[in-house]
Amino acid sequence: MIAKLWRWLGLGRIDQSSGPLVVMYHGLGGEDGLIPSEFDAQCSHLSAHYEIVPLRDAVAVLGRPEARQLASITFDDGYCDFAEFAIPILKSHGLHATLFVPAGKLGTHNEWDEGERARRPILDEVSLRALDRDHVEIGAHGWTHCRMAGLNHRELQKETVHARRKLEELVGVKVDLFAYPYGQLDDFDASAEIAVREAGFTAACSTHYGRGSGLRERYRLRRIGVEPGDSLEVFEAKIRGDYDWQTPKERLGAWLRRRTR
Ligand SMILES: [Zn+2]
Repeated sequence: MIAKLWRWLGLGRIDQSSGPLVVMYHGLGGEDGLIPSEFDAQCSHLSAHYEIVPLRDAVAVLGRPEARQLASITFDDGYCDFAEFAIPILKSHGLHATLFVPAGKLGTHNEWDEGERARRPILDEVSLRALDRDHVEIGAHGWTHCRMAGLNHRELQKETVHARRKLEELVGVKVDLFAYPYGQLDDFDASAEIAVREAGFTAACSTHYGRGSGLRERYRLRRIGVEPGDSLEVFEAKIRGDYDWQTPKERLGAWLRRRTR
């Protein structure tokens, strides 16, 4: 019974430190974003403990022992502050990040956070094209930045196929990576995962907490979310595994929300 519960909570299925470690950021700077100098310090810490590679390279070794040494940096939502603050810091460290962009929201702002978080502008088409490709790969973050659980076929096509096509037309290279908006385990479902795979994406990130993902999680990769208030000590503790308890807690939370909807 206990072993079964343990497995269901995701604890028996995967060694949390199996890698690759995928770190998730949102906005930098402004009144409720992570302070850029803290991102800088976190890049130093991460570089000292991991080989930081583009997410596509980390995905390529998923399930292999070498994945344990690798980390990747991701940013969700495609904010203008990524160009302003993150790119110069990534450049100074010689690092690379993946920027997940809601394809239908270019040139607008984070309407989905209205009333909860500060208004944060999203890159427009021109500024997205101008990003330094040596340090960033563009991934898709849906079309409308909606929860993808329960969407019908037509809606799923828009969030995946259309989003991919639009971004590929804009940046002129293949867009192979996807991140589910909101991204907790109840924010997308099996149909969404299938739609992402059938749209040609090679992997997809969730926001489900974890320091490692197995081959079976290629379309629901776990990430370590960094919150704006996280000190370097908290960041180090997350990387070390002190926050691994968040994995079963989130899993249980998603299960409860699914039952009450
Ligand atoms: Zn988002």
